Amino acid sequence: MTARTLYEVQQHILQLKKETGVCILAHSYQSPEILEIADITGDSYRLSAMAGKTDAARLLLCGVRFMAETAKLLNPQKQIYEANPNAGCPMAEQFSPEEILEKKHALGDCAVVAYVNTSAALKAVSDVCVTSSSAVEIVRNMPQQEILFIPDCNLGAYVQQQCPEKKLHFLKGGCPYHGAVTVAEGQAAKAAHPEALMLVHPECNPAISAMADYVGATSGIMQFAKQSDAKEFIIGTEISIVMHLALECPKKRFYPITSRLICPDMRVTTLMDIERVLEQIAAGSAEELLLPDALMAPARHCLDEMLRLGG
Ligand code: SF4
Repeated sequence: MTARTLYEVQQHILQLKKETGVCILAHSYQSPEILEIADITGDSYRLSAMAGKTDAARLLLCGVRFMAETAKLLNPQKQIYEANPNAGCPMAEQFSPEEILEKKHALGDCAVVAYVNTSAALKAVSDVCVTSSSAVEIVRNMPQQEILFIPDCNLGAYVQQQCPEKKLHFLKGGCPYHGAVTVAEGQAAKAAHPEALMLVHPECNPAISAMADYVGATSGIMQFAKQSDAKEFIIGTEISIVMHLALECPKKRFYPITSRLICPDMRVTTLMDIERVLEQIAAGSAEELLLPDALMAPARHCLDEMLRLGG
């Protein structure tokens, strides 16, 4: 049997997409060959917002589990499939709902704000969801003064800095990859590229955000780099964004803040996974992502509150 090229697999996927009517949504951290065959690309917020806007009744998510869960919560009538069910986000499942409720009660039943990078089970015990780009506005608009912000204490610290009128409480959670970037790595990147602007995701340590010229979500970082007149940028988010920006802006230079900022879960999905799930959908044997009925209403409420308060 002769080996197939990635191009041939892509062509087969495009044909299967047509036959099944499936819309493919891929997170910006996915590989270029996946982004090429996707119908919708973007960060987690854009994917969930766009999932509701497409007419397709069947959606295939290439990213990590909480993104597929969020798509299901926002589109309960649609059939949602994960390209690779082994792709999870360690931060999204860092705490159990029981731990959150225990902390909430210990804090006098304060409001719970959940970053969108959380499991449906954690959203179900939270009052409102936020994205990294909407967190400051939503926390500001909340009537409560005392807030338990889960799970990312780095993003939480950034929000606290922007909203000094609120009192935020945290558990020791966060992204194991963004949170592991060190000040020494930030300084070394600046010393190596003194003309470059530093663009950083707020999941990084606050000391890294303090060194940055811009702090924002992945979509914000990409937009800033594309619109800026500057020619060089140090990128403080997942390393795949360095390559995507370099492809999109050939006249600009992009450098990773550290070559260690790699999310292994975002790497597990392959073109062949997508092809396999599409074949299963065509054959009627694919496993749809379903959430327990008891979670659907409270977790959906948390997302609806995000939209109401400014998400
Ligand atoms: S980069 Fe961090 S927050 Fe994003 S999916 Fe990977 S582990 Fe989760």
